Amino acid sequence: MRTLVFRAVRKQNDPKSCDEAIHENGFRFTAQRRQVYDAIMARRDHPTAVEVFMRVKEKMPSISLATVYNTLETLTECGLVKHVHRDRESSRYCPNLQPHGHFFCDKCGVVFDVPQRTNAKVDEVWAVPRRAVVVHREVSFRGLCPDCASQKKLSSKLSGKQEGRKLKSRS
Ligand SMILES: [Zn+2]
Ligand SMILES: [Zn+2]
Repeated sequence: MRTLVFRAVRKQNDPKSCDEAIHENGFRFTAQRRQVYDAIMARRDHPTAVEVFMRVKEKMPSISLATVYNTLETLTECGLVKHVHRDRESSRYCPNLQPHGHFFCDKCGVVFDVPQRTNAKVDEVWAVPRRAVVVHREVSFRGLCPDCASQKKLSSKLSGKQEGRKLKSRS
């Protein structure tokens, strides 16, 4: 197995450090890899491989879905992007290398980063057995994003008013 070199905090979107990461793992930063990486960095919305493919195809019509898949795996192996999983959905990709969790909105499907507070000690929150070795930690939240939550509030207020009116007319 290839030994991977990870940097704890890599300066984000710094082309030099991306080149470094790719080289450290014995790859070259080809034009295709650059395009795929840029497509994820540009929007930071946790796209699926197919979504990345659609974006890159606009600039590089010759690129294939298989190449995008392979490139995403390479970028993941180099520690430049991370897989984001949710139940049985297809993998999404995240370029944020800072400690963070993910929020999944049940209504609109948006996925966004939940940053970890810098002074919070996660190890004090989770009672991981002392001799256990943690190699991966994934924190996820599910529910309604702020937009969907405020829409829900609004619609329940409106329907509440209507019900109030109905009751009044009945009496
Ligand atoms: Zn993320
Ligand atoms: Zn939402």
